[in-house]
Amino acid sequence: ELAQRMAERAVDVIKFFMKQGQMLKPGDVIDADTAELVAEEFGHTVKRVAESDVEEGLFNVEDKAEDLKPRPPVVTIMGHVDHGKTSLLDAIRHANVVSGEAGGITQHIGAYQVEQGGQTITFIDTPGHAAFTAMRARGAEATDIAILVVAADDSVMPQTIESINHAKAAGVPIIVAINKIDKPEADANKVRTELLQHEVFVESMGGEVLDVEVSAVKGTNLDRLLEAVLLQSEVLELKANPDRSAEGVVIEAKLDRGRGSVATVLVQAGTLHTGDIIVAGNEWGRVRALVNDRGEQLKEAPPSMPVEILGLQGTPLAGDRIAVVESEARAREISEYRQRLAREKSVARQAGQRGSLEQMMSQLQDTGLKEFPLIVKGDVQGSIEAIAGALDKLGTDEVRARIVHSGAGAITESDVSLAETSEAAIIGFNVRANKQARDAAEAAGIEIRYYNIIYDLVDDIKAAMSGLLSPER
Ligand code: GDP
Repeated sequence: ELAQRMAERAVDVIKFFMKQGQMLKPGDVIDADTAELVAEEFGHTVKRVAESDVEEGLFNVEDKAEDLKPRPPVVTIMGHVDHGKTSLLDAIRHANVVSGEAGGITQHIGAYQVEQGGQTITFIDTPGHAAFTAMRARGAEATDIAILVVAADDSVMPQTIESINHAKAAGVPIIVAINKIDKPEADANKVRTELLQHEVFVESMGGEVLDVEVSAVKGTNLDRLLEAVLLQSEVLELKANPDRSAEGVVIEAKLDRGRGSVATVLVQAGTLHTGDIIVAGNEWGRVRALVNDRGEQLKEAPPSMPVEILGLQGTPLAGDRIAVVESEARAREISEYRQRLAREKSVARQAGQRGSLEQMMSQLQDTGLKEFPLIVKGDVQGSIEAIAGALDKLGTDEVRARIVHSGAGAITESDVSLAETSEAAIIGFNVRANKQARDAAEAAGIEIRYYNIIYDLVDDIKAAMSGLLSPER
């Protein structure tokens, strides 16, 4: 790549290294200082470009308070499998889509909008926390409110707890939808009581979390659920400046045979227009068409609106951020820069750079953080409680272990993505990681530690934590 950028032959560059006594093959990585030396040796002038130069001004444009206008809330539905997430998403969509409207055929684009009492709400159409966490792992905060679906005939289950922890880790407020209330065996109060144990305090239990009893199948109380969303949204005072260049996040993207790369983007600030030049993650393009969740072509998309974008050169990833730039040249420059960065990162990852307990410790030390985040999976609830108790005792005024998530069962992909977003280590006690989780951990460079003796586990964490106790400064 260095040869290519200097417009030299790779073999000449390799020869040069050979003369210096270094045997390299194409694809080997050299550091920036060496690259600079070589480039100068070949008669080129080197200009070091920092990320800030290329990416400057792309995101986080400061908006003046008076330019901010209210925007619709963006909602994700989470909860245990079979508790009715998909049914609820479908029911809400069908009950609140303006029927008989031209082009009123609903399209699945990954998110949709409904009206309630003249106000708009955006729903992310992929239920569950997997997509939510995958997005967060890429640095995207797309969700304002999480609806936690709990089936009243089943109550709190492992994925209910995971969802609670994911929402909490993201700082996203929860609204509880107690579903399947039509069933004779439904027991809403049991749900409320069990939620207490996971620090979700609903209003009738003296807390502040809104809860609504619903039936997705019968369509009961869907309007009350949407009212609760709007109420919560009012508290959050969600605002964005619609009168500037757009920023957003990719919700899903695919390569469509007829239409090329198609990405569904949630506009988060500004207004996106056809003809805009955008960068989306490592890709770029000129917006050829904007299509909403009803298949209608739009000229523009304001904040909180999900739209399909046509015209991208490549297919971005879910969770990639998008921004409008002033010219094609700049879009190309940024996307090339990012693609190079991504390649370098993947090389660095293969070299296994982060994720080990020790490295995590030294990272924590650098940031001065004195909490040690952990995800603990065990064979039975009893052993997890014993581990939590033992770790709790290890804590001092200076440093303590914080269990971000724990549960009985194998280590899954969802644990790995939560580890990635919360920068936690993963510990398996008498359990292993499944194949997908192992692959995900490897790709993300996250180490999973296995134990079958609590003493060993506690000892390791203790050693790691004492490394965190900084010498007196
Ligand atoms: P998900 O896995 O959370 O997306 O759950 P689904 O939406 O697929 O629902 C799982 C099952 O529960 C399906 O058979 C639904 O028909 C059923 N179900 C969902 N909501 C309700 C409800 O409100 N009442 C009843 N009786 N069944 C429901």
